Formats: sequence, C-alpha cells, structure tokens
Amino acid sequence: MKSIQETFTTPIVGEYDVLVAGAGPAGVAAAVSAGRLGVKVCLVEQSGIVGGVATSGMMSHWTGNTRGGIYEEILDRSQEPDKPQMRRFINTERLENVLLDMLDEAHVELRLYSFVASPLMEAGAVAGLIIESKAGRQGLSAKVVVDATGDGDVAVRAGAAYTLGREGDGAMQPMTLMFRLGGVDTSRAILPGSFETTVKVPDGEIQALARAELPPPAGHVLLYPSLLPGVVTVNMTNCTGVDGTEAQDLTRATVLCRRQLDAIVAFLRRHAPGYEHCYLLTSAAQIGVRETRHFKGVYTLTGEDILAARVFPDWVVTKAHFNFDIHNVKGAGLDANGCQHGFPQARGYTIPYGCLVPEKLDGLLLAGRCISGTHQAHSNFRVMPICANIGQAAGIAAALSAQKGVLPRDLPVSEIQTELHKCGIEP
Ligand SMILES: Cc1cc2nc3c(=O)[nH]c(=O)nc-3n(C[C@H](O)[C@H](O)[C@H](O)COP(=O)(O)OP(=O)(O)OC[C@H]3O[C@@H](n4cnc5c(N)ncnc54)[C@H](O)[C@@H]3O)c2cc1C
Repeated sequence: MKSIQETFTTPIVGEYDVLVAGAGPAGVAAAVSAGRLGVKVCLVEQSGIVGGVATSGMMSHWTGNTRGGIYEEILDRSQEPDKPQMRRFINTERLENVLLDMLDEAHVELRLYSFVASPLMEAGAVAGLIIESKAGRQGLSAKVVVDATGDGDVAVRAGAAYTLGREGDGAMQPMTLMFRLGGVDTSRAILPGSFETTVKVPDGEIQALARAELPPPAGHVLLYPSLLPGVVTVNMTNCTGVDGTEAQDLTRATVLCRRQLDAIVAFLRRHAPGYEHCYLLTSAAQIGVRETRHFKGVYTLTGEDILAARVFPDWVVTKAHFNFDIHNVKGAGLDANGCQHGFPQARGYTIPYGCLVPEKLDGLLLAGRCISGTHQAHSNFRVMPICANIGQAAGIAAALSAQKGVLPRDLPVSEIQTELHKCGIEP
C-alpha cells in the first residue's frame, strides 16, 4: 500500500477540565453530569445533532431500565404531558431540544460538526482531543477525556486494548436504518415489538411471511407506536457482516438498508392490518450500529455477572435491567445466543467502575456501549437507559478526577458513589 508522510502544526483552541467525545445518550449524560459539578466541560460531536442513536438514529423508545439518575430525568423532561403511558417512546425533535437545554443549564460548551480524529497525547496518557472540522485541524486540551463515541475512537487511537465483536470470530450484530411510516390506521395496526412476538394476519403469521417474502437479510417484523398520529417507527431493515469501524462498510450498510425500504413498505401494505395505506415518511439520518469494539478495562463485565444480578462493591450503575438482545449475526431475527422473552433474571445488576477505566491507559474514561464487557454482556448494557447512566457515572468521575488532580483510576469509588447517591442512585 502506498503511503505519504504528513506533518502538521495544530493550534490548541481550547483548554478544559473535561472533554467528552460523542453526544449520544452516554456523552450527553457525561457532559451534563460533569458540568453540574462546576468544572469546565466541552462536548464534541461529529454530526449536527445531539442524542446519537436516540435522535439521529430515529429510535422508537427507551428499552431496558435503571432506577434513578439521569435516565429518569431525561424521561421526565422529554415525555408528552398528556401521554404519560407513552413515557418511554421518543419524539426525537422534543428529545433533542431537552438534551440541548440540559447541556446549556450545565454550562457545557458544545462543538457540533467536529470529528474527533485522534487523542492528544502527553507522556503516554490522553491529554485532549484533535478534532477536524470546516475550520481545519484543531487541538483541545483537557485534564480528563471521556470517550462516548460508541466505537471508542479515542481509546483505539490512544492504543487501548480491545476486541472487535463476538469472542472467537469477531462477528458483530447487524446494522439497521430505522424509519417511520405515515398513514397507518393505528386503531387497527399490529405492533409486534420483539422477534418472538407472532401475530396471526389474514395471510398467515406475520414473522413467517416476513422470513419468506422480504429480501434477505431483512426478514423480521418489529413495529413500534409513536407519539405522532398515524405514525409507526420501523426496525426492519437489516445488514449483516459489516464492521461499523470501516467507512466503506457503513456506506454499504446504508445503501443496502435503503434498498430494502420499498419492499418493506409494500410487504406491510400487503399483509399487515392497519398498514394498507401506509407510506415511507422519513428515515434516520444515520445508519444504526449496534456493536463494534469492546475495550479491555480494569474489569470486564460478563453475561454471568448479569445473570447473577451481581452487586459489585465499586458499583457506578445500579438496577440495570434488560435481556440478551443479540440480533442474528447471519440473517434476520434473534441470534441463537440471544434471549428476549423469558429472560431469566428479573432483578437488576450493577456495573463496576472498573468497566469504565481502560486497563492500561490513563487520562481517559469509557462511557456507553464501548465500555469493557463481553459480546453477551454488551447486548444487555448497550440499551439507552443503561448507557445514559454509565455516562452519568463517567462524567462525575471525570469531574472529580479533574478537580482533585488525580488519575481516574486512582479516584476512590466511594467519592463517585457519594455524588451518585445525591442523584437518587442506590445499589
Ligand atoms: C438500530 C438500533 C436499534 C436500537 N433500538 C434500541 C431501542 O429500542 N431502545 C434502546 O434503549 N436502545 C436501542 N438501541 C441501542 C442504543 O441506541 C445504543 O446502543 C445507544 O444509543 C448507545 O449510546 P452511546 O451514547 O454509547 O452511543 P451512540 O448513541 O452511538 O452515540 C455516539 C455519538 O458519538 C458520535 N461520534 C462517534 N464517533 C465520533 C467521532 N470520532 N467524533 C465525534 N463524534 C463521534 C456519534 O455521531 C454519536 O452522536 C438500538 C441501537 C440500534 C443501532
């Protein structure tokens, strides 16, 4: 492969206590939580939208749960006052504005349209970020950086150890372009919300019809109500065998999922009661990536920890609950290792601080879906309520580290827990 040598002089255009990379549920929660502790915070996001998959990915609803903390606060502030029973369903426009308000109130400086190209390193530790934008290449320095990019773009370029996808073969969960249908008769519409939900329709059973008629690897039916009249959110496009850390794979997945849209709309019109006159209303700005890198932390959360509902003494996320939502890595539906209905553990589990601290790298905390966990554990903690509360813990830890001048790995966890208690989080 040909290569060229590039030499840059990069201006440092900002100095902060805490820098957060990525404005998804984890990054926003981290930035707000750090800002509330009075430190100088900047949140850097490649797109023009805050909320990550929750907004630019056109997400239907918050699944799984935690108790207390910033997730509950986001729900309280973003719900439609006259529809309390729809509290977990997302109006993406409203959610984005609520997140912007929360950032503003916490005095977080926001830099949208800024891609984090690499970490700024000093003496082997992360000491800031190098960003690329319309203004060129610029440096931002910080006492502590939180990597909430989903893929761990900062951590990987700083040399943190990681594995890609599933242990053994590196297979990753499929990607999906979410979209919305208008013109649905919601008084009659079927809404199968999991792979294991079967629905009898005049022509047969809807999941079986989808497997037989949709262009593979599409082939399942996942439909969710929305807060808008006649509108349903659809999680049915599917692209397997792609790596979300490769731009060419992201491109391929986006094009393939877009090509499935017309067939899915036609299928629903043909077979699904309530969808006879539906039409494609809008699709997500970003392809949804479920899984990429899993970093090696001081501790790696496992599926066994989740099944045992383990309460770690150094907990920073508590009462986390969901299932093993592993989408089939080779086709439609649920993977053989996944478990949705009948998930055997109804009690919540905890996530220890060690999952947020890279095993060997200093100056950096991980937040959101890229923390240290196995493929199976990740399929559970990757949902947005849990990612938001991971972000809250990371933001508090980053702020305390910056204030006290200690490395994140040397911060006594009891100090993070004291702050989390104040936010209503109990083990
Ligand atoms: C198709 C799909 C359906 C899902 N369904 C649900 C559901 O129903 N309910 C649920 O609770 N969860 C669902 N999830 C899971 C959930 O949405 C994600 O796992 C969660 O949003 C992860 O949060 P995060 O903050 O870690 O990352 P993300 O939401 O991915 O946010 C990461 C942010 O970082 C930014 N970023 C990335 N790289 C860079 C960079 N180098 N520089 C600057 N910015 C960068 C991105 O633009 C993005 O805004 C779904 C996920 C997918 C993909």
